[in-house]
Amino acid sequence: MTIGTTVLGYPRIGPDRELKRALERYWAGKIDSTALLAAGRELRQRTWLELRDAGLDSIPSNTFSHYDHVLDTAELFGVLPTRPGLSPLDTYFAAARGVQDAPAWEMTKWFDTNYHYLVPELGPDTEFSLAGTKPLDEYREARTLGIETRPVLVGPVTFLLLSKGTGGFRPLDLLDTLLPRYADLLAKLHDAGVEWVQLDEPAFAADRTEAELNALIRAYHWLGKATARPKLLVAGYFGGLGRGLGVLARAPIDALAVDLVTDESFVDSVAAEPALRDKEVVAGVVDGRNVWRTDPRRALSRAATLFGVAKSVGVTTSCSLLHVPYDVSREDLDPRLKDRLAFARQKVDEVVLLGRALRGESVDLEAVTDRRTASSASVLPEEVSRPPYARRAAAQQAALRLPPLPTTTIGSFPQTAEVRRARAAHRAGTLDDAAYEAAMRAEVARVVRLQEDLGLDVLVHGEPERNDMVQYFAEHLAGFATTAHGWVQSYGSRCVRPPILHGDVARPAPMTVSWARYAQSLTGKPVKGMLTGPVTMLAWSFVRDDRPLAETARQVALAIRAEVHDLEAAGIRIVQVDEPALRELLPLRASEHSAYFEWAVSAFRLATSGISDATQIHTHLCYSEFGEVLAAIDALDADVTSIEAARSRLEVLTDLGGFGRGVGPGVYDIHSPRVPSAAEVAAALRAAVGAVPASRVWVNPDCGLKTRGYAEVEPALRNLVAAAREVRAELG
Ligand code: GLN
Ligand code: ZN
Repeated sequence: MTIGTTVLGYPRIGPDRELKRALERYWAGKIDSTALLAAGRELRQRTWLELRDAGLDSIPSNTFSHYDHVLDTAELFGVLPTRPGLSPLDTYFAAARGVQDAPAWEMTKWFDTNYHYLVPELGPDTEFSLAGTKPLDEYREARTLGIETRPVLVGPVTFLLLSKGTGGFRPLDLLDTLLPRYADLLAKLHDAGVEWVQLDEPAFAADRTEAELNALIRAYHWLGKATARPKLLVAGYFGGLGRGLGVLARAPIDALAVDLVTDESFVDSVAAEPALRDKEVVAGVVDGRNVWRTDPRRALSRAATLFGVAKSVGVTTSCSLLHVPYDVSREDLDPRLKDRLAFARQKVDEVVLLGRALRGESVDLEAVTDRRTASSASVLPEEVSRPPYARRAAAQQAALRLPPLPTTTIGSFPQTAEVRRARAAHRAGTLDDAAYEAAMRAEVARVVRLQEDLGLDVLVHGEPERNDMVQYFAEHLAGFATTAHGWVQSYGSRCVRPPILHGDVARPAPMTVSWARYAQSLTGKPVKGMLTGPVTMLAWSFVRDDRPLAETARQVALAIRAEVHDLEAAGIRIVQVDEPALRELLPLRASEHSAYFEWAVSAFRLATSGISDATQIHTHLCYSEFGEVLAAIDALDADVTSIEAARSRLEVLTDLGGFGRGVGPGVYDIHSPRVPSAAEVAAALRAAVGAVPASRVWVNPDCGLKTRGYAEVEPALRNLVAAAREVRAELG
């Protein structure tokens, strides 16, 4: 059988975030592993039944994960750190979340998406073994429902390229020892009756060296030549495959899935590839990452270009549907907008329909209505640069009078059950505006008092009124819509509900000023205003695909600029504009980097300029490796940059030294429940003042504290302040 119609993957957190809830209950000791496993099984079965009933020809399995599919792969091949005394499940979670005596694995962006994977640590002594049975178990589980599935695996080359070598070691050097284990797995799957296996190699949507292309050649010649194996579908996504296309076309595999959405011109390369003659090409023509309905005529004509090029042509999504919400039919949205949207469930229907049309069946292809709204307002050129840093720094020091190594946090404080309840009740209409406002103010007051008690130098209001750093602003800006159930997994149990940016963006009224002003009225210490930057607003929203991102970014930047000015006018002397997603939107191909930096940096500067020299601009970045964007971070020209560093063991410090402005390398990993000791934080600070002049070092956690509990946060911040005082004293 051919693949025909399929999707490359499906959301797995549950339509109502059932998996998130089960995981959190399990971690809190409220349910046992049996209950957690049952919750997962239930979700997998629902997905398979749904995909079968929708009429897909080929249904994926092993797309479920209890935390992350890269972590699953590491477990499958026996390279998780062993933890004596822990069950296999808890050993898995220990690598994901850390345990008191051992930090978690590093977590980073999955290509240019807002999903984060755990980075396996491999060294010259790593020995792979086929330690797990997950793909086999899930295949069998689906079979008991009478559903034949296609197990999906991270491909061997991408797995190694995403891993981190300890001590300068190159994980790719392990390819020859990893391939036999993949072959063992394929043989087992074959014995169990599996017809097709999908191997994902998205790493080839980015620029790759000769050595890396050679690894791809070796891997698939080797795996393809096995006699007892299922048919192999290799999937490349998040862009065109570049030279990987020729390699895979010549490899002894059976089918290739290509992304024909991200880079529209890639279809020409595929059509010109003679070596695809003996393969099925599965055309990824339904956008797996955005929420707009597919234009069926354009999609069909793209897929039909491949007739005659390939042995047969299938239809699929451009990538896994992991990156979109479940079902738009549950949303209560303006019908004119809703009509133009497709979430995972609707995209499956689109694939099925396109597949039938491609086979020549007559189907009713409803034209997609034009989604252009009013043309974008032309914006006047505005001032985008501030006076030299030295001048600003002097004015800021005179205004703020901060001690050396000033301590602060990244913005949010733990969102307690009461805070969440109040927000939910307000949304449901059972708590009126005045009562809600009073509850949030009480929380702000509590958080300000706590920070004063802890002895922090720059305070925050704690963000209790924000469900999410992007959603909150989207709800206050024109041009955005927000959903009720549109959850997408960000990492592990953490989900986000990306807003939908569908029209021109504008700020009808101030969004944060009253909260910041209130917090500042309670303390003599400076309170930082807290905003989300234009790049992150775009990165964590579904964006229009009918306008250049640069233009939309400028609209968002102007709205934020107005907010910065209003905060300043309200007496706020420090404003932080978070850009945690700066790295995430970086195009995978180097040839597109400079155009991206150009618009991203100028949007940030547009948002943060035109203010007094004495007003201090902070920015914050997290979740990624920053090497490739350091020059852009520097170009943001923020007075202080706080950056995630604890989990990547402060490796970023060596690069930050060159910035010439304030830097706050995170000294407390807030993605893990463990509390760092004062000695540990002091050691990190000593490393920081060794790499960066002490006068420019700030002391802060890695990221916002909202997902943590006060039981961890209070002692951790106490240790952080104590460590800052200790190292301050050493500086003399
Ligand atoms: N100010 C935000 C917070 O503290 C920043 C979050 C982030 O960087 N992801 O929650
Ligand atoms: Zn952060």
